[in-house]
This record gives sequence, C-alpha cells and structure tokens, in this order.
Amino acid sequence: MAATQFEAVDARRCFPCWDEPALKAAFQITLDVPLELTALSNMPILKEKLNGDIKTVYFEESPMMSTYLVAVVVGSFDSVEETTADGIRVRVYCPPGKSDNGKFALHVAVKALELYTRYFSVPYPLPKLDMVAVPEFAGGAMENYGLIIYRENDMLHDELQSTAAKKQRITVVAMHEVAHQWFGNLVTMEWWTHLWLNEGFATWVSYMATDNLFPEWKVWTQFLQYTASGLHMDSLEKSHPIEVEIIHARAVLEIFDAISYEKGSAVIQMLQSYLGDAIFQKSLSSYMKRYAWKNAKTEDLWSVLTEESGVEVTNLMETWTKQKGYPLISVNLNGHILAFEQSQFLLSGLAGEGLWIVPITLCLGSYERQKKFLLKTRCGEIDISDLFNSPSDCLGLSEENDPEKFKEHFWIKINIYQSGFYRVKYEDKLATQLIKAIESNYVSAPDKFGILDDTHALCQAGKQSLSSLLTLMGVYRKDIDYTVVSNLIEVCYNIVKVYYDAFPDSVDYLRQYFINILRPSAERLGWESVSGEPHLNVLLRGEISMALASFGDEKTHEDAIRRFKSLLMDRNTPLLSADTKRAAYIAVMRKTTVASRNYFESLLSIYREADTVQEKERILRHLAASPDPDIVMEVLNFLASDEVRDQDIIYGFRGISLEGREAAWKWLKDHWDFILNKYGTGLLFTNFLTDIIALFSSNEKADEVEAFFANRTTLAFAMNLKQSIEQVRIKARWVQNIKQEESLPELIKQLAIKG
Ligand SMILES: [Zn+2]
Repeated sequence: MAATQFEAVDARRCFPCWDEPALKAAFQITLDVPLELTALSNMPILKEKLNGDIKTVYFEESPMMSTYLVAVVVGSFDSVEETTADGIRVRVYCPPGKSDNGKFALHVAVKALELYTRYFSVPYPLPKLDMVAVPEFAGGAMENYGLIIYRENDMLHDELQSTAAKKQRITVVAMHEVAHQWFGNLVTMEWWTHLWLNEGFATWVSYMATDNLFPEWKVWTQFLQYTASGLHMDSLEKSHPIEVEIIHARAVLEIFDAISYEKGSAVIQMLQSYLGDAIFQKSLSSYMKRYAWKNAKTEDLWSVLTEESGVEVTNLMETWTKQKGYPLISVNLNGHILAFEQSQFLLSGLAGEGLWIVPITLCLGSYERQKKFLLKTRCGEIDISDLFNSPSDCLGLSEENDPEKFKEHFWIKINIYQSGFYRVKYEDKLATQLIKAIESNYVSAPDKFGILDDTHALCQAGKQSLSSLLTLMGVYRKDIDYTVVSNLIEVCYNIVKVYYDAFPDSVDYLRQYFINILRPSAERLGWESVSGEPHLNVLLRGEISMALASFGDEKTHEDAIRRFKSLLMDRNTPLLSADTKRAAYIAVMRKTTVASRNYFESLLSIYREADTVQEKERILRHLAASPDPDIVMEVLNFLASDEVRDQDIIYGFRGISLEGREAAWKWLKDHWDFILNKYGTGLLFTNFLTDIIALFSSNEKADEVEAFFANRTTLAFAMNLKQSIEQVRIKARWVQNIKQEESLPELIKQLAIKG
C-alpha cells in the first residue's frame, strides 16, 4: 500500500509546487494503480479507465486548498459508511477483515460533521469525507482535506481489546481531525508562525465536541491535564512564543509541540471563558465566513473577536501569543484588600521579564461569591469587602453577622476552575485555609487539580519544600475524581524520579507512602469491571493499578501475576480486562531479570501472536520497565527490530525504568546513525531525545548529553534538544534542594509506616 503525508513541507518532494500554506490552488489528481486496489484522494472519483491489470483513476477537481493538505492512499481495505443529515457520505477504511473496528470512529465522524456545521454555521464544503487507518504513520492522524489518515492505534476500536482510555483517545482524535476541515483546511494559517491557529483551535474544539457527545466523560475537567503539560513546557527558558518565527522549512516539525497544541488550546479556553460561550461562538462563525477558502493570521482572528465582543481582545491576547512564558500570581490578603503581583514563572527558579494582561477570577467561601478583573500591571489590588458581607447565597453567612461561622467557611480560590493559563502562590494563611477547604470537599475538582499542580510546580522551582507538597498530597487520599487522582499519580511519579537520585536508600519508603495514598481508591475500584459502571471509574482503575504495580505494591503484584497466569491459559480470561492488563504487564516486567525471564518470554509470545494493534501497543509500553539494565538493552534492540512497526518504537521509550536509563542512553549513542537515517526527517525523531534524556536528573549527565550532541545537532531538533537538557538541569537543582531537607527521609519513613 501507499499513503502520503505532506505536512509540513513534503508536498514538494512529490510534485513541483509552491509549497507554502498561503499559496492555495485547485488540484486535479490522476493515479495509475493495480486493478485490485482501492485508490483514494481528497475528492471523489470522477472516472476510471482500465488498461490490462492497471487502472487509471481520475479524481474530481478540488476546491482551492494548500499543498500540505493534498493526499493519496492506495491499498487493500474493507470499509463501512454512513451519510450525514446533510447528505455527506462518510466512509471509514480499515485493514481487510477489520471493518467492524471502524464503526466507532465512523459514528464519531458523522456526529462531528453535524455538530461543527451547526456550531460554525458553515456547512462541510466537500462532497465526501474518507477516513483511513494505515499501518505505519508517524503522527496520530493527519487532517488532509476530505481524506483523514490515522495510525491504526488511534482509529480502530475493538469492544474487547480497546481500553476506555483508548476509546476516549479515538473520539478526541477524530473530533480534532474533523474540526480541521474548518479550522485549517477551509481557513488556513497564513504561515507556520500561525500553526497554533490550526492546532490550538482544533484541540479546543475537539474537547467541546467530545463533551457534547459524551458529557459523562467530563472531558473539560480532563482538559486540565492538557493545560498542565502546556504550563510545564512553557516554564522552560527555552520555550517559545505561541506565534513563533519560522525561517527554515526543516524547523517546522519542531513546533508541533505542547506550546502550539496545549498552550494554544489553553489560552483559547481562557479567552472563551472570559468572553462567554455565545459571543465566542458567534465570533468564530464570522471569522470562518470571512476567511473561507483564504488564509488568516492570528491578528485577523483577534480583530473579529474584538468587533463581535466589544472587548479589546488584540491587546489582551497578544501578551499571551507573542511572548513566551506565563505569570505566577502571588496573592496576599490585608483586611479586605487582596493584593496581587505577577512575575514570569520559570522552573529554573529565576523570575523572568514578561508582563501579561491576566484575567483574574476569584471566589470566597463558595462559588457563588465571585469577582473578576484584568490585572494589567505588575501589581494590583482589589477590595473584596462585598464578598465578606453578601449573605444572599446558599451559605447565608456574612462576617458581620456571624464572624465565627464565617471564619470556618473562609477560603479564597484564585483562577476559578483553572480556566486561566497562570499559576497562583498564596500567602501561608490563605494556603492553609484552602487545604482545609479541600479536606472538607468544598472545592471543585478543577480547583483541587490546580492547587496540587501549582504546588508541584512551585516545589520543582525551589519555591516550596517537598515536605509541604507531600503533606498536601496526603489530603487528596480520599478524593475520587478521576482527573484529580490522575494528577496526584502523575505528581507521585515525578517525585519518585528525583527522590531516587536524592535519597536512593529511602526511595522504597516514599513508594510505600504513595501506595498508602492510592490504596483507598484501589480497594474501592477492585480489579474487575462492573457492568454499566461509569467511564471515569474504568479510567481510574487502569491508572491506579498501573501506579501500584510501578511502585512495587506486593499485593498488586501478587494479584497481577495470578491474573497474568490465567491470561496465559486463556487469552479471554475474565480476570484481566483490557483496562487492567497494563498493570499486569508492568508487574511482569518489574519481576523480570536476566536470571528470571519466563514471564517476559510469555509476554513476548503474547505480543507476537496478538492480532490487534491495541494489544501490541499495550505490551510495548511496558517492556522496558525491568529493573535489569541488560533486559532494558535487549528490549530496546527488540523495539528497533523488524518485529516492531517503525511507528511503534516510541511506545517502548515511555516505559523505560530508572534502573535502565544508563543502558538506554548508551543504546541511543550506539544507534545514533541508525536513528538519524530512519527517523531523521520525521515527526517521531524528537521522541528519541526527549524520552531518553528525560530520565536523567544530574548536571553531569546534562553536560554529557551536551557534549555528545555538540557536533551532531541539526535544525530539525536543536530547540527540542535544548529543552530536554534544560529539564535535566531543572531536576538536578530539585534533587539538590531535596537533599537539603535533611529531615525528609525520617518524615517519609513515618508517613510510610503510618499507613
Ligand atoms: Zn491537528
């Protein structure tokens, strides 16, 4: 089979063209293909001519479009199809025999077309939409006009083999790609500097659409995980502005990153919640109509939003898109006056130069007592006396009438529901009250998420102690919200990574403390799914069981191995669902060493005979989790072998154990030429660097990495490499800070023993 991928700058390698997004043209495509194969392109087939065992396929002429969206697929497929209410034919093409696995994505795509047509008040402009799953694909998917191409893993859905997490991923990805048919394909960025207009919007809209189709998934709360990774990336000195200057074609692929997608969509979310749903939707619709079939720059969108809303959107938003970074807002309360100060937040601990127009929102004691304003200068104050004395809400309390009771319910949360792209540091008194409010469950899930995420970041930047973060984490042990607990787990993983280098002798106590924190949720959820249970419970079960297996919880390991044995006897055992298999595979690999490799061999056999991409991906993700560096080396060689698809090698990197990081770094250096030749011009290339270098947390290692790449760096990964090295140095600094908290090992021991 054959499939194309032209974004960003590869159409020129296929046919002569002005290969820039602003130079749109109409395309008439003709293909000569073997008679028995299916040929697809952006437009429907006009006619076919037979010539022996070759057929010539003529496609209808396309409307005006950019070169990077032209596409062709030739291969052998089975398909399923449906027609939307507006008469658009949607077809999903799957590997032969797998068309059932395309039905879910088909359903989502049809819903997406109908939804976006309503939302933008602009119809889908092509006569058809095809979606194809191909076996080798660097990205998750590509939005070619009328012909979306996916990696099989992100489109095929199998009722038994796919996890709930995968079902959600497939939904969000399809919603994202269909959104591009408007945002990107109909209205296209003027130049790669405005890539975020494509990616930030498609991402934001995909959550809106998923929330519409599956409200019970609460994806807007989950969206915070997205915002968090944007915040993390953007607190590096080597971050870049959303609108980034692109001079060289080869540097474009580097900006398909957390700034264009995550920060881009998060600042859209911030603006949308500031302007309100209705005005925002109306403005997007005007923008779409005004720039249809044309190109637009970031300021064009701001102009439309300014016209429609009467708010000075351009001034406000340029502080977020033209400069890198974001503010940390420090808050103090003096009497009834709240004082704010903004300074750029950097994980290096230094204060940056930036200044933003920050939409500040706050509430006092309840979500009904709110206030908002724009902080435009470095410092600002606001009088909140009215919030102290507004007994009209459900609390019915005012400071004047009942000071004691008022005090009990007194807490202030800044950045309500975390809709703003900034962090908050509270003075001690406010922070203590907020922790009490979390314990009493007065605070919403998004706000609990935000408080933990901000504290975690402040701790990484050396502005707060690890002991205070650990104490805060203990408060979250009773929480049951999926997104909140998932963030808690993420923080646990991050702390283990640095603590392992700070106090290696007591890292097992730390793991035990985290096991204690997660145990109540694990016990509530058990191993086996309950029929009809909420989607979010299934997601949480998967993540908690993986975390407990990673932290070496004995009970989890025993259960996992017992269930794994039953899987070996019966591949459809009810003891291990798709959602808990990963925990079992982690347990298997954590027990694997060169001297004890039976289960590892069994896992490889399951991989080899697996008939679905879902199962193969799941296994690859954890093969490198062994504590034995020799096994990790063996696994990396396996990942690079013909037994693993080229696109799948990155799954394996994500699971490399801390004990295996030196082996992985050696492997990377030894295989550098192989990697460069095979992946050097593609989207996956930077994963080799970021995932492997990220395992280190010492300045010596950062120096070593810098030295190795001193004369090997190219434009294709220069920025990503600098970011990776900076992250290693940030962790090194965190390790040093932790070492200075001398009482920490004893505190952690106490926390671990307490249960
Ligand atoms: Zn996209």
